[in-house]
Amino acid sequence: MNMAAFPAFSVRILSPVRDGQETFQESDIPTRSRLYPLEPQAMRSLWQESFTSYLNRLGWTHHVSPRAMVRQEIIPRLNKAQELPYQWLGSLSRGYATRINGTGALALEWSHILEQLTLRSDLHLLTFHGWIGNLTSPGHLRANPAWCPLCYEEWREKNLEIYQPLCWFVKAITACPTHHIPLESSCSHCQKTQSVIALQTQPGHCTQCNQWLGISPGEALPQPMQEESMHWQQWALQALEELHAASMTNSLPSWETFFTHLATGILSIVNHGSWGSWKRIERLTGVKPYILTQWLKREWIPSLETILRFCYVCEVTPLQVMRGEISSLAKALQKGASSRPPVPRRTQASVDQDRCLALIHAVLDGSEKPLGLHQLSERLGCSERILLYYFREECALITRQAREHRKRQGEQRLLKIRDEVRQQALSLHAQGIYPSQMKVSNLLSPGLMRSSVAREAWHEALRELGLEPRKK
Ligand SMILES: [Zn+2]
Ligand SMILES: [Zn+2]
Repeated sequence: MNMAAFPAFSVRILSPVRDGQETFQESDIPTRSRLYPLEPQAMRSLWQESFTSYLNRLGWTHHVSPRAMVRQEIIPRLNKAQELPYQWLGSLSRGYATRINGTGALALEWSHILEQLTLRSDLHLLTFHGWIGNLTSPGHLRANPAWCPLCYEEWREKNLEIYQPLCWFVKAITACPTHHIPLESSCSHCQKTQSVIALQTQPGHCTQCNQWLGISPGEALPQPMQEESMHWQQWALQALEELHAASMTNSLPSWETFFTHLATGILSIVNHGSWGSWKRIERLTGVKPYILTQWLKREWIPSLETILRFCYVCEVTPLQVMRGEISSLAKALQKGASSRPPVPRRTQASVDQDRCLALIHAVLDGSEKPLGLHQLSERLGCSERILLYYFREECALITRQAREHRKRQGEQRLLKIRDEVRQQALSLHAQGIYPSQMKVSNLLSPGLMRSSVAREAWHEALRELGLEPRKK
């Protein structure tokens, strides 16, 4: 090549000039986020991504296991990080983590941390708190993820992102809004439920056996839902979408107004506490009078599913009740009958696993005081054997936590005894009285001085005062 054929170029590097400033400053570099600010899927729609789905995708975006990312980047930043047992993350990922998608403090804390790490301000909207606001009752969401195999397959065919919409986590939603088939909750290959935070599998694959969770070619299509069930499901989805839309435009009233207006509607038809009226409401809604009065006094906050079922038969949406539009509610309660097809009954498991897990994890994360297995079984009203059968790993953590708690309590008690003995000995000495064992003992709880710890502390106090030679 003849270099002479090309004209000579010279390159001059221009200094950035900003507001009269000639030199480049470090402050000119925009703030960098620690984690990649991945775009959430389907923001502000019924198909909006869930927070835990975002966590999983973010992990894979960084080419690391989502659970490893959580262990390294989130757990150390949690308020109670020091108190959490190492195995807590494994137990959390298998079920309890759906609470990170919920309406409580945990969801707010996790989303706040991830917003700081990604410098995104909208991640709190991926939790149910961003969807339905301050209805802080456990039981809105499933313990394990559910999915629609047809949606997964369609997204894969269209080369779309595979993710878990938040509506799939909502306990009240049991059918796919698009395909009208029941959502699945256990893998058709290994029959296991799915971890909420994946260890090493890609989105759309079973977290236990790594098989594809969509419909595979040649596989039989799932049976569509019955018409009555679908009617209830479509209504529930619309009611949910209505709440979501209000939340996204900051026009969702407080749930306090829901219960206030509900009380107005109920009390308008209950004639001076007439038992017949309460029973009529029970026949219509399936809610017993004593439970309903607990709702009205805010002594018991029902889950969203219970509220939706109640509103469905009363022919009103939760948002309408919040806004005080309760004429159809009062009419349905007065009539004691609904024109809508009946709501399918909930499948009653012999053990309320969600309730058990909610308490177990509240104990493990410190929001409930430590309990031993026996106390736990008494609180839940089921045997220790049942708890061990369903939650073996969690029970092991609970037992260990209770043992460590007892040990800490014992150590604190000993410290307290030592301190009491020392204080009394110093106080006597300050008054010019020789702090004999008898004199100190008289100032303590009866019998305390008989313990070896108290006697040892007494000797230490004498040595501190120079009344006894120090040990060599
Ligand atoms: Zn679907
Ligand atoms: Zn599987």
